[in-house]
Amino acid sequence: MKYVDAFRDGALAAGLAQAIAREVEPGRDYAFMEFCGGHTHAISRYGVADLLPRTVRLIHGPGCPVCVLPVGRIDMAIRLALARPEVTLCTYADCLRIPASDGLSLLKARARGADVRMVYSAADALALAERMPEREVVFFAIGFETTTPPTARVIELAAQRGLANFSVICNHVLTPPAIEALLAAPAADSPGRPRLAGILGPAHVSVIIGSAPYAFAATRHHMPVVITGFEPLDVMQAVRMLVRQVNEGRAEVENEYTRAVTPEGNRKAQALIDAVLAPRPQFDWRGLGSLPASALRIRPAFAAWDAEVKFGLEDRPVPDHKSCACAAILCGAKAPTDCKLFGTACTPETPLGACMVSSEGACAAHYNYGRFRDPAGA
Ligand code: SF4
Repeated sequence: MKYVDAFRDGALAAGLAQAIAREVEPGRDYAFMEFCGGHTHAISRYGVADLLPRTVRLIHGPGCPVCVLPVGRIDMAIRLALARPEVTLCTYADCLRIPASDGLSLLKARARGADVRMVYSAADALALAERMPEREVVFFAIGFETTTPPTARVIELAAQRGLANFSVICNHVLTPPAIEALLAAPAADSPGRPRLAGILGPAHVSVIIGSAPYAFAATRHHMPVVITGFEPLDVMQAVRMLVRQVNEGRAEVENEYTRAVTPEGNRKAQALIDAVLAPRPQFDWRGLGSLPASALRIRPAFAAWDAEVKFGLEDRPVPDHKSCACAAILCGAKAPTDCKLFGTACTPETPLGACMVSSEGACAAHYNYGRFRDPAGA
């Protein structure tokens, strides 16, 4: 298939659905976790789950970068923007709305006088610093391996150009350690978590890191993995590949997304990341807790562009809103409709938790596309 429409073809989807239904075995539970917010969004938007047999369940995982960012990191950015009038803090649109402590968000901090701006890319933030030499421009960078190379590149460029008024709060996180944490944690640590039968591996992340880094899931945890694209037929084909692995007792890393993912990934992007960023010893994740070597910091050689160093920023862990079920949703223990705030106090217009902010968040995806199919009263 050549064009995107072909990956959304209804007749092909119906055929695939029938093929999956024929292949599922009675008495088996096929609980597959999608490990990427892009998949969560696509599954809700195209109603993929409705096309699958009841025993094939798609469980949301911790793959939305906005969702997994803990409150403490947003608080850090808000404190900086409010305390330092010379700072212009810029970040992606979704980050502006993540609920933080004291009823604040970056957007609300702006209403209190902080200079907080939305940018479309890391390069926009760098350009802003070049246009405003009298300001301290700080880029609040988030994302998995997909958005990490552009952040590394702007730090490298700032260093090459001697741009002293630009710095970055680096919140980039790594996918394999999050998968490892979920597969290694005993179910007792998060009651309600399903026993997974396979993983839908992320698409864009895998373009950068390749398929090889997931081998541990298959070898150490006997967990089938299929890396897949974001179109509905990609997801359905990956489900079929996972069903086959389960039926045959195999646990392998397979690649449905061969049009973009290779075993070794993008070596140039990996080298760029490695030159500028290094693993943090520990990093807090919403839903998964503090995980070793699961996020990146700016290397000491680039400390002049590290906002945490430059402004002496402190990372203080903060609990989530006590009624919000985001943490349980991010490890597969709950669904959005299990949260009593879903669709009432918490909506995309009035998010109380991070999962309702980004379109890739499980709650926002279900609110926008899935809730109309919920049974009355759910
Ligand atoms: S509905 Fe809102 S409060 Fe509840 S889990 Fe989702 S984001 Fe959190």
